[in-house]
Amino acid sequence: MSVPVTSRVDARKYLLERVDEAAVVQLYADGFSELPTRDKILIYHLYEAAIAGRDIYYDQRYAHNLEMRDVLEEILTHPAGVDESTLAEIRRYTKLFWINTGPYNNLTARKFVLTCAPEAFEAAARAARAAGARFPLRAGETLETLLARLRPYFFDLSVDSLVTSKTPGSGKDILEASANNLYTNVSMADLEAFVERYPLNSRLVKRDGRLVEEVYRIGGRYDAYIRAIVGHLDAAIPFATGEMATALRALIRFYETGETADREAYDIAWVRDRDSPVDTINGFVEVYMDARGMKGAWEALVYYVNPHKTAGIRKLAAEAQWFEDRMPWADAYKNQGVRGVSANAIDVVIETGDSGPVTPVGINLPNDQTIRERYGSKSVSLSNATEAYDRSTSPEFRREFSWSSEEAERAEKWSSFASELTTNMHEVIGHGSGRISDRLQGSPQTVLKEQYSALEESRADLVALYFVPDPKLVELGLVDEADHADVVRAEYEAYARNALVQLRRVREGSQIEEDHMRNRQMVVGWLLANSRALEIRRRDGKTYYVVVDVKAFQEGVGRLLADVQRIKAEGDYEAAKALFETYGVHFDPALRDEIVARVDRLQMPSYTGFVQPRLEAVRDGHGEITDVEISYPLDLATQMLEYSERSGSRRALR
Ligand SMILES: [Zn+2]
Repeated sequence: MSVPVTSRVDARKYLLERVDEAAVVQLYADGFSELPTRDKILIYHLYEAAIAGRDIYYDQRYAHNLEMRDVLEEILTHPAGVDESTLAEIRRYTKLFWINTGPYNNLTARKFVLTCAPEAFEAAARAARAAGARFPLRAGETLETLLARLRPYFFDLSVDSLVTSKTPGSGKDILEASANNLYTNVSMADLEAFVERYPLNSRLVKRDGRLVEEVYRIGGRYDAYIRAIVGHLDAAIPFATGEMATALRALIRFYETGETADREAYDIAWVRDRDSPVDTINGFVEVYMDARGMKGAWEALVYYVNPHKTAGIRKLAAEAQWFEDRMPWADAYKNQGVRGVSANAIDVVIETGDSGPVTPVGINLPNDQTIRERYGSKSVSLSNATEAYDRSTSPEFRREFSWSSEEAERAEKWSSFASELTTNMHEVIGHGSGRISDRLQGSPQTVLKEQYSALEESRADLVALYFVPDPKLVELGLVDEADHADVVRAEYEAYARNALVQLRRVREGSQIEEDHMRNRQMVVGWLLANSRALEIRRRDGKTYYVVVDVKAFQEGVGRLLADVQRIKAEGDYEAAKALFETYGVHFDPALRDEIVARVDRLQMPSYTGFVQPRLEAVRDGHGEITDVEISYPLDLATQMLEYSERSGSRRALR
């Protein structure tokens, strides 16, 4: 019997389901199977370490999270006898709970609740108990008292309403108004006369009127989870490169002591490891969940370098001077000896904690500013996550904003490729380019103030748009000559469409605040007013931005870029302000209302949760791992239950 060797990549399933405003999408790691066995085994141990720490983040995010999850998962895995409509509601709620790691929306920080009656939920739990479910009862507790205790957390929007509240209103305290579990009974006033020894990796608790730091380390808070993580990291070391092994040992040391000096030593070792084909981020990293911006949320990512895509980034970086010499701005602003910023394109195999199921698409670490200045940082773009986002976007959505079917088809075929190419150009030859005028006193940031970020983002975008049609890209092997014209047109069309579609995000008022959004609106607004590249057309009461002249688009971008570079180099605040006030900030609310109606009709998701690949070790008779197989679960519940060890397959692994 023979089976097809590969199913067509395009035909694979990306969008798995919609749950309210969330999309659930499968993530693929195509290069994994081709990795050397040693790298696969290394990734496997790091993958186990990522799963081992997952519940730390659950607990950090909300003190009741793990109990709530246990109750939900026990009901879902013992559904016999549960009323069907109640079960459907518990499923909906649990999926959102998994995607957001608890009952708080990851975009708005706001709580969401079960919408069935509490009595119906209790009946469901009793039916599950009759079917063999075992609930997390405390000593002396019955199922009824457990459910009564958890009831406000599942059902009451006014209890613990926000996971993080940075502006709770006058007279209210940001720590007391935040429902996360990074502080217990602590207010900002308590901290005035207190010096933390473990600002990043501790929970702060007031006990008998005294502040105590519960340190996240072996022997401290999360001891059992951290021991398990360390066990897997230890198992990974023999398969790592020398530099990566050094970093992993430093990480273990930090998990053992929790001391800041050991965290710094780890950050340094991690940054120094620039060439390993496999890497991991594992620890207490981002501080967004803490209203104070101090406490690190636990996360883990495991990934390998995508050699093909990284080669493209390095080629661009190596030619940074070539591009600099041809920038469409005055010679005085050209930099001799420019160096491209280097970064890796990676494919993630697993993301847990603060990075999964909702994932970032780019990461630059470490966050410690002194280490960044002294030792540099590592930057990664998550290729397979970007691709999965793109592939899960409904074709109907592109069609809605495309003037012609040809444009929609071009977008379908090329927008993912073109956006990755221009994103790399933006980062690698955009931000690093240009020089500042000798006349400028101080840095452009200080002089251009609140205009700086939007101007700098525009500059990097314009560099990418200006060079994307250049034959140099074909010469570098970054795009095929036969496809080049289509790729350029698809990118210009996508850029113009986006200026319209992005208005859906500003549902109130008639002003854009966010810098990247200002930048894109400014570029398109300027081109509409100052070139023949674009036309505004209307059909059936709908507005379209149509690219009518690709050459004029590039020529216009060049003129605008020359001016934007001059503004930055000279620190011309008035010109920057005028540019954005004229083209980048204000919009017609009637147009926005039209866009919102079109987007809502298509039910565009507002965020995405990813189902990660699944790894399974192949072992010999002695239990030694000889190979690792990758598969794709294509189902959120299957994966989440497996991570929580509620599926047979994961128990069998142990
Ligand atoms: Zn940028």
